[in-house]
Amino acid sequence: MGTAGARFMVAKQVAASGGLYIEEGDTRMSLDPGPGAIVQYAQRGIDLTTLDAIVVSHRHLDHAGDLNVMVEGMTDGGFAHRGMVFCPSDALDDDPVMLKYLRRFPREIVRLAPETSYTVGDIAFTTSGRHVHQVETYGFRFGNRLGWVTDSAYYDGIAQQHRADVMVLHTILLHCRPDLPHLCVADVERIIRDAEPKLAFLTHYGMTVWRADPAAIAADLTQRTGVEVRAATDGLSIDL
Ligand SMILES: [Zn+2]
Repeated sequence: MGTAGARFMVAKQVAASGGLYIEEGDTRMSLDPGPGAIVQYAQRGIDLTTLDAIVVSHRHLDHAGDLNVMVEGMTDGGFAHRGMVFCPSDALDDDPVMLKYLRRFPREIVRLAPETSYTVGDIAFTTSGRHVHQVETYGFRFGNRLGWVTDSAYYDGIAQQHRADVMVLHTILLHCRPDLPHLCVADVERIIRDAEPKLAFLTHYGMTVWRADPAAIAADLTQRTGVEVRAATDGLSIDL
């Protein structure tokens, strides 16, 4: 649903910022519905009243900007008491990103815990340990098939916690910046080397990555690691 990460890419909508969407069997899940997610889903003809869950990795705007309107979509404006929302506790408590009047709409709201497994219909997923980020943040593994490395500074164990055949990595920074808790291209290379997925996708690009051309960065990482690395594009769909 989009590849933009961080403030400038999102505010200018240089790329779309609607997060990821997963279908498995009869189960449908929206991950990190950032600003414009509702538009991306509508443009792609996805009926939100068939959505089973919305999962938010953390409360930052580029990951949760459209959470409320997506909850309305999933619950048919609140008339259908259905669907689940998974998010860290701090998305619900102080300065919440999920409005209180909407909270009785979904069937259940689940506060995510580290290294915990959850099941929604045909989709099972496990949280990583808590990421190193400004707010409570988790990455996710969907069995051995998909590892989703959301926003974090690099930390020991990040590769193992997200290891899967296909990995999606949030690549915000071209050059590492110790003052910013985000992955840079060198961090992403290290994770790919350690986790050895069959296929890795870069996404959630910050402006420096965007300007350096994600496809060129991916080609370089493929050369350097021997793992096939591709740059995600808005609307990209893959069959796992
Ligand atoms: Zn963030």
